[in-house]
Amino acid sequence: MNNWDNFKELILIDKKDVCDTIKSFYFKAKNGEKLPKHTPGQFLPFRIKTDDPKMRDIFRVYSLSDLPNEDTYRISVKKIDGGVMSSYLHDNLQVGDIIEAKAPCGIFVLDENLPKDTPIVLLSGGIGVTPLLSMLLANAKDRNITFVQAVQNSNMHPFKEDIENICKENNLKNTVFYSNPLDTDEVGKNYDVKGFVTKEWIKENLPLNGAFYFCGPPIFMESLEKNLLELGVSQDKINYEKFS
Ligand SMILES: Cc1cc2nc3c(=O)[nH]c(=O)nc-3n(C[C@H](O)[C@H](O)[C@H](O)COP(=O)(O)OP(=O)(O)OC[C@H]3O[C@@H](n4cnc5c(N)ncnc54)[C@H](O)[C@@H]3O)c2cc1C
Repeated sequence: MNNWDNFKELILIDKKDVCDTIKSFYFKAKNGEKLPKHTPGQFLPFRIKTDDPKMRDIFRVYSLSDLPNEDTYRISVKKIDGGVMSSYLHDNLQVGDIIEAKAPCGIFVLDENLPKDTPIVLLSGGIGVTPLLSMLLANAKDRNITFVQAVQNSNMHPFKEDIENICKENNLKNTVFYSNPLDTDEVGKNYDVKGFVTKEWIKENLPLNGAFYFCGPPIFMESLEKNLLELGVSQDKINYEKFS
């Protein structure tokens, strides 16, 4: 059994643009050993060690955005203006470089005791798509999932094709909201609904007897939780992850 209690060295094997300000990073274990498999929704804790004794080591966590597997970890990171770790990953870390991470952890995962026929609703805002994409990829074949993605516009729309394809292949409903569409963005092509996810829209379009999982900016999650509770969804069916 591999000992992943402590930080281990990962090697960056690929780095891909996803959309404006978001890149995906693919890692393997530096020593070639198998990686502990994550449960969809979990994240990896990362550390950058600084050699300067006056500087503190930097710790950040990133959700795994791909299917669980023992060979490669994928994280997808939004570059934050002035952000230490996201800028380091985007601008400095190159293929072949080493970074340290611990085994996947976190409790934002699908409730394994949910009956198979319970509808599952995954709602993402912006970069909050990462844990939900992993849940979608792993469960699209055998769960009744409704996917909702809210972003600003086509420039900031991560994983559009991946989500469209997996939902189409598995006959799952996928709705895209643009809060601030570009002049060139078209309803029916780039997105489905202009604006925010409202209470009225939820009432008319989502299975309120389902289990809800969401991740996104604080205001997105606060509004979803409030609306779902007001529509009679019980608190134990509402699950979310904060990225702060
Ligand atoms: C469970 C979890 C999962 C996550 N998953 C993802 C993911 O999948 N993808 C992703 O992109 N992110 C994810 N995050 C967020 C991620 O961990 C980082 O918080 C994010 O990347 C920002 O880190 P940073 O070092 O780039 O920014 P930081 O350096 O922490 O800065 C963040 C902001 O604070 C400002 N700031 C920094 N220092 C100061 C200061 N002294 N005074 C004023 N302002 C300051 C910066 O300008 C910036 O706007 C996740 C977070 C959690 C908790």
